[in-house]
Amino acid sequence: RKCLQRIKKTRHLNAYISVTEEVAMKQAQEADGRLLRGKPLGPLDGIPFSVKDNFCTENVETTCASRMLRGYFPPFNATVVQKLLDQGAVLVGKTNMDEFAMGSGSTDGAFGPVRNPWSYAAPYRTLSPGTDPDSDWLITGGSSGGSAAAVASLSSFLALGSDTGGSTRNPGSLCGVVALKPSYGLLSRHGLIPLVNSMDVPGIMSRSVDDVAIALDVLQGRDVKDSTTIQPADSPAPLPQEFDVRDICVGVPKEYHAPGLSADTLSQWTRVVAMFERSGAQVREVSLPHTQYSIVCYHVLCCCEVASNMARFDGLQYGHRSAVESSTEELYATTRHEGFNDVVRRRVLSGNYFLLKQNYERYFVKAQQIRRLITEDFQRVFSSGVDVLLTPTTLSDAAAYSDFIREDNRTRSAQDDIFTQPVNLAGLPAVTVPTSLSSRGLPIGLQLIGRHLQDRKLLAVAHWME
Ligand code: GLN
Repeated sequence: RKCLQRIKKTRHLNAYISVTEEVAMKQAQEADGRLLRGKPLGPLDGIPFSVKDNFCTENVETTCASRMLRGYFPPFNATVVQKLLDQGAVLVGKTNMDEFAMGSGSTDGAFGPVRNPWSYAAPYRTLSPGTDPDSDWLITGGSSGGSAAAVASLSSFLALGSDTGGSTRNPGSLCGVVALKPSYGLLSRHGLIPLVNSMDVPGIMSRSVDDVAIALDVLQGRDVKDSTTIQPADSPAPLPQEFDVRDICVGVPKEYHAPGLSADTLSQWTRVVAMFERSGAQVREVSLPHTQYSIVCYHVLCCCEVASNMARFDGLQYGHRSAVESSTEELYATTRHEGFNDVVRRRVLSGNYFLLKQNYERYFVKAQQIRRLITEDFQRVFSSGVDVLLTPTTLSDAAAYSDFIREDNRTRSAQDDIFTQPVNLAGLPAVTVPTSLSSRGLPIGLQLIGRHLQDRKLLAVAHWME
């Protein structure tokens, strides 16, 4: 009930696309009964959670924040959603996002931008006088901005996001919550409406590393409905409360001193590196030389997969259907023209261009080769004995909405993914942890990147750092 009240009180954040109040109350009552009888289904029984609107939820509208999917009520739950429901967790709503998860601001959805709860918080209001959150608020980051805002504003204890190039970690960092992008294949993508199938993973957000670890235990594992999933070797267990950092080697990639890195973020990064050193961890500067190519490489591959994925939205199978039916081609074209925003349309066009017979080798194949080099950079560093990499998550704290949407800033905002995208290209686990506030009173997160399928170890280090 408290969470549903918070949702109402924080409506100005525009964090939710739909709220599932009735079902939630019923689920909560059932959970109450089990808890009173001392028979909870598990650690998440009765815990309110929210889900990004690109995960299918049975009989609950699933829009991907697009006109294209208005009125789409899936007949099934995504595997990760079903797993939470099976544990008794209570679904309170579907969260706002960038249309089809394309973006890093949560400013580009058909239901309007999400506002960062920190725009209204005391530290920011005090340290940044003259700001008026009602006329120009701060962005949440994206594309899972609704999920991050929901957790940060206490209307959900746990939220699912999706992470293809940083979409869970980026808003997690800008909204001051813990956000995990698990290893590719550890969590099922069944029912997650795809952006880039070879990079998408469901992401987990909560207010503490312990809570994220509990959710990971519930969510991970082989799913017959997603052939890319793997069964992890270790069985569920709480994180070690005593973790000896003297046993680990922390790598600090020198290429992550990227142009545009803010002084505040740099100083946080330096401070936490020093904290590891002082506590006896081995800290080593490392090199990931192909980092500079990751953004272009990501965008070529993303557009190619998008061009293919968006072909299913033809006006016949689900969602929006244009009234123009003079020919089949015309119906497809006008349906997509009316249904997709310009970001989606641009990516479909670019992807089809990259995949043209005469361009395929030059763009698509080349990008795959570069993806391999980026993956090998990580493999080299990890096989030299490094356990985790410590990096910033974003270049700076949250931008003002008016700055973010300025056309000349659009390309710059792609640069913001520089620290998160390489991880998706390589399929590695990474988590962002809020470390402190910037001089403007806004959260700054740092990212830890781990070896493939060592998500639990990664969380143990994150827990120590928290
Ligand atoms: N910002 C990136 C993009 O627009 C990543 C999005 C994501 O992770 N879903 O593609």
